[in-house]
Amino acid sequence: MANRKEKTFRFIIVGGGIAGVTCVEQLSSQIPSADVALITASPHIKTVTNYRQVSKTLEEFDVEEQPSSVLEEKFPNLTVIHSAVKSLHTRSHSLETTDGRVFGYEKLCICGGGRPKLLTQENPYVLGIRDTDSAQELQKRLSKAKRIVVVGNGGIALELVYEVEGCEVIWAVKDKAIGNTFFDAGAAQFLIPSLETNKPEKDTPCKRPRYTTEEPAPGGSHTFTADRNARRQGSSSTEAGSALGPDWHEGIVLQGSEQGTRRVSLEYQCEVEKIFTSEELLNSPPQTLGHENGSWPVYIKLTNGKTFGCDFVVSATGVVPNTEPFLHGNNFALADDGGLQVDDHMMTSEPDVYAAGDVCTACWEHSPMWQQMRLWTQARQMGWYAGRCMAAQVLSEPIELDFCFELFSHITKFFNYKVVLLGKFNGQGLGSDHELLVRCTKGLEYVKVVLSGGRMVGAVLIGETDLEETFENLILNEMDLTPYGEELLNPNIDIEDYFD
Ligand code: FAD
Repeated sequence: MANRKEKTFRFIIVGGGIAGVTCVEQLSSQIPSADVALITASPHIKTVTNYRQVSKTLEEFDVEEQPSSVLEEKFPNLTVIHSAVKSLHTRSHSLETTDGRVFGYEKLCICGGGRPKLLTQENPYVLGIRDTDSAQELQKRLSKAKRIVVVGNGGIALELVYEVEGCEVIWAVKDKAIGNTFFDAGAAQFLIPSLETNKPEKDTPCKRPRYTTEEPAPGGSHTFTADRNARRQGSSSTEAGSALGPDWHEGIVLQGSEQGTRRVSLEYQCEVEKIFTSEELLNSPPQTLGHENGSWPVYIKLTNGKTFGCDFVVSATGVVPNTEPFLHGNNFALADDGGLQVDDHMMTSEPDVYAAGDVCTACWEHSPMWQQMRLWTQARQMGWYAGRCMAAQVLSEPIELDFCFELFSHITKFFNYKVVLLGKFNGQGLGSDHELLVRCTKGLEYVKVVLSGGRMVGAVLIGETDLEETFENLILNEMDLTPYGEELLNPNIDIEDYFD
């Protein structure tokens, strides 16, 4: 293998997603004379645009797909190789691509991302969403659909059920509340009316200093209908086919075959038991059909005993790290979630091999306020930091874990509300050792603070609360907030002034 090397690069980065491209940019700016290769399976690369630092740790940006020539023009020492890595040989510091070429490296960074955890493989009626192609396929299939079943409870499912129009959506979640990855049941209750109506009710703030929530009965279901026309009025139409980014659904029209109203039916606390075609249904014992029986191309049986016919199923049950092409013959330490374990310098267990983004699992001792979530922001931060670490090692410079890993922070939009998540926003890992303060104004804002030992350790801010910077500071300063008690969320106190 070593003898077949076409060329040896000082640095090779695998993957043209946010992590890989940011790593390339960082390395190429720090060591402009270094020979860098980006090997990527996709024809386009993803770049960060309109980057904005919102506060110390919160950041916002757009993601654009661009031709790789844009990157090569910017960095003359960069070579982009459009092929997939077939195998990696860490002992000989080389890798082979599917078009049969072999490249050597001095330092390698694997940024191969993740792949959808599909409910079932190779079923033409089950769709996963990962990239622009799969999002366009969804759009095409949706345009002819009357009913779809969405399975999953993460960010993609949340966005999808809100965006789909002109098609009945049955949404199967395994938890007691929607959006379990991002919120608690209280925030879910706040968001649910958005599925029914898009006209926010402007109530006076009601202070709810202690957290309570009503949970649906196990296996229970809810139905919501809404007319989306009100929300769409005045909003500019979006162009079809734009890049899959944090607002990936904005670039595509998620319109079913019917006009007008949206209808979302929720099935809680259930998973998929079986997916079968209409022929298989005919040949199987009688099923309990959840909705009016008709002729559908595919049927899905849930563990709550209900069976639904639909045009297709969207499997939005998360991603698994895409490690497969890199493992054979090597000795990578893998985390429980299947990611390549990386230390606080983004190094894997194999010499001279780094990893960043969805493909890796951060295995250093985390700051008490940080956790890994496979998101754009963390892909960018990890790619940037991996590039810095690789350069620092070559230049024999010391480097410390970047500040961005001090506090988990994420800013996004769900159901058209601005959502900010800080620190241990769901009390992750705190057991019963925490207290919650909640303020909620129906249709306007939902503010939840997680306190532990009198100190703020996390927060969920939904709506235009304007509290993110103050709360970020309170978390980072570890200030004892016991004297303030429930006043902390008193809507009549300008908290920003209070702590200035
Ligand atoms: P990827 O972007 O997956 O890039 C991986 C790259 O590696 C690709 O270029 C691929 O072609 C290449 N590759 C893979 N295997 C090989 C190989 N063998 N050889 C060569 N190249 C290879 N996050 C948010 O924060 N906000 C959101 O709103 C949001 N929405 C999302 C919506 C959807 C539909 C999806 C699927 C994800 C969303 N995410 C969101 C998550 C976010 O997309 C990921 O966390 C992020 O893209 C990870 O970046 P990455 O660079 O690690 O991997």
